[in-house]
Amino acid sequence: MEKCTEYYNAADIFGENVFNDSVMQARLPKKVYQKLKKTLREGRELDLETADVIAHEMKEWAIEKGATHYSHWFQPLTGVTAEKHDAFITAPMENGKALMSFSGKELIKGEPDASSFPSGGLRATFEARGYTAWDCTSPAFVRQDAAGATLCIPTAFCSYTGEALDQKTPLLRSMEAVNKQALRLIRLFGNTTSKKVTASVGPEQEYFIVDREKYLKRKDLIFTGRTLFGAMPPKGQEMDDHYFGAIRERIAAYMRDVNKELWKLGVSAKTQHNEVAPAQHELAPIYASANVAADHNQLTMETLKKVAGRHGLQCLLHEKPFAGVNGSGKHNNWSIITDDGINLLDPGVTPHENFQFLLVLTCILKAVDIHADLLRESAADVGNDHRLGANEAPPAIISVFLGEQLQDVLTQLISTGEATRSIRGSMLETGVKTLPDFMKDATDRNRTSPFAFTGNKFEFRMLGSQDSIAQPNVVLNTIVAEAFAEACDALEQAEDFDTALHDLIKQNATEHQRIVFNGNGYSGEWVKEAERRGLPNIRSMVDAIPALNTEKAVKLFEKFGVFTKAELDSRVEIEYETYAKEINIEAKAMIDIAGKQIIPSVIKYTTSLADSISSVKAACGADVSVQTGLLMETSKLLAQTKTALSNLEAVIEEGMAMEEGREQAVFYRDAALTAMEGLRTPVDKLEMIVDKEMWPMPSYGDLIFEV
Ligand code: ADP
Ligand code: MG
Repeated sequence: MEKCTEYYNAADIFGENVFNDSVMQARLPKKVYQKLKKTLREGRELDLETADVIAHEMKEWAIEKGATHYSHWFQPLTGVTAEKHDAFITAPMENGKALMSFSGKELIKGEPDASSFPSGGLRATFEARGYTAWDCTSPAFVRQDAAGATLCIPTAFCSYTGEALDQKTPLLRSMEAVNKQALRLIRLFGNTTSKKVTASVGPEQEYFIVDREKYLKRKDLIFTGRTLFGAMPPKGQEMDDHYFGAIRERIAAYMRDVNKELWKLGVSAKTQHNEVAPAQHELAPIYASANVAADHNQLTMETLKKVAGRHGLQCLLHEKPFAGVNGSGKHNNWSIITDDGINLLDPGVTPHENFQFLLVLTCILKAVDIHADLLRESAADVGNDHRLGANEAPPAIISVFLGEQLQDVLTQLISTGEATRSIRGSMLETGVKTLPDFMKDATDRNRTSPFAFTGNKFEFRMLGSQDSIAQPNVVLNTIVAEAFAEACDALEQAEDFDTALHDLIKQNATEHQRIVFNGNGYSGEWVKEAERRGLPNIRSMVDAIPALNTEKAVKLFEKFGVFTKAELDSRVEIEYETYAKEINIEAKAMIDIAGKQIIPSVIKYTTSLADSISSVKAACGADVSVQTGLLMETSKLLAQTKTALSNLEAVIEEGMAMEEGREQAVFYRDAALTAMEGLRTPVDKLEMIVDKEMWPMPSYGDLIFEV
């Protein structure tokens, strides 16, 4: 067991590999630094002259950290980050020495060959060009790994004609939308000083850790990230205390290393703990602006995987690596905060601010109610289908949890038009329209809600563990911007602001109260109740996708310049393709494993049973009924396996012959998944019978309990 031999001051290493504000302040000429800050503040483009100076300093700094290459780091629609590395080195000079160079142009704009990234028809293949553009609101960093050190520049990725081909472009656009509308809103309440409102996000990341050697014996994990076969270990087979100690050491050493790597990259990894399922853990950073949080979450996922390798471990980010074992998600904590530190989701202490809060709150209720389908879609990925709407939380129905106190205020508003008291606070009881002081209650009392108010933020809990957090935040920012815009349109015109405000809060609360649900989201009654309320219950990704380009969605996204219709259409196409492709890979992996590993092993086992039967009989004629019974049962299941395998092969052949699109995706969800289940069932039964020594791969018990 590895021992901790290295101690360090976390504050010293934090951000060590980041070209952050203090580095820039120290290294850039004052004028250039101020110009960059101004550009950042005003959200404008950087001029080439300034970019040249920054690029030069950035390069010098990176070379000091050992960097030999730079890379535009971006998030195409494949779900993972992409990068193309270029060396700093330029053509050798006359004396045979090479120069290291990096220009402002190379910093702010890149031109990777985009033809191999999904574009959903946006970019014809002959027009392969795509551009990456520096997102200077997310700092550059140096990543050190086996490939050496690389200067990574967070970028947005667009087509030649400016259409977004990535996750980040729409995220930045949506942040701008919510910034603009939120500023309008706070101006109505007399705030003249805040200059910017930022969507802020803290994602909690769940993951599994298994032993790498065992992982390497599971082709399903290698190819698809999840187990496609595997019988549950018998009940009661739990870790004993002794084992527990050993597990903790190994994982603790791993986490220590992960934290260190993340801190160096300026990712504020803050909390870590074990999760419900064995071998499952969670990591949460301190919240940051949405685009930085999205970048950092990608870095976190990369780091979790990379560091695991060094410890002989494997990190599984899939939403459902093990059937029957709790899956992994991501909780997206979201709030909107001004540049001078006012959180618009903070209930506040004065009635005056509470009015603003109530408007913000009821606007969010409205947004979530109207666009529940879009939020649901934003959390859809192939792996997450095993959680949402399956027998696992959270449910696929979007609802909002407010908690007792806020619910009470809302009820008062709806029934009498005024809220005059709060359940527990009794300090504020003057004046007709005085609103209660909300007690902050950060405790998370309802874990079954997909969208819960937790003190001064909303926690969107539907996200899949391996998915980018970009799209959920694009949707959140944009739908809230829309509700704010509509509120401002009404209030800016109002003759009597107070009355209009009061009426609007009441109207929003009344019209959208159906989205609020404070009960148990996992119960069967809620499903029925939600149906009565007319709330959508979208059980699969395939059924969620159409929400992306409905008339309502196109109108929303075009109004705020977040997506064009063409961009939405292309994303719909990509999602259907992704769905079919991923299931196809899973099916093919099953076919491979069943045909090349499982069936041959089972045949060997039947042969050993048959040998035993004949030799025992020949030796003494003793009772061989056990062996015979096993042989009969195994042979029966073996035959079923073969039939199911042939069936799956036929189904996949049919699926692959289909044209890409919705119909194919539906086919994969219905026919392919059913055929896969049909193959898994006899195989899992066989696993319970066949001699463990002969089973060709580690069991669930080996993987989950013996880390
Ligand atoms: P809990 O344990 O109740 O979910 P935590 O305080 O542990 O809450 O926060 C979980 C995540 O939420 C962390 O990433 C944290 O930084 C983030 N968070 C806290 N406050 C905010 C906020 N105002 N806006 C966005 N994220 C926040
Ligand atoms: Mg939480």
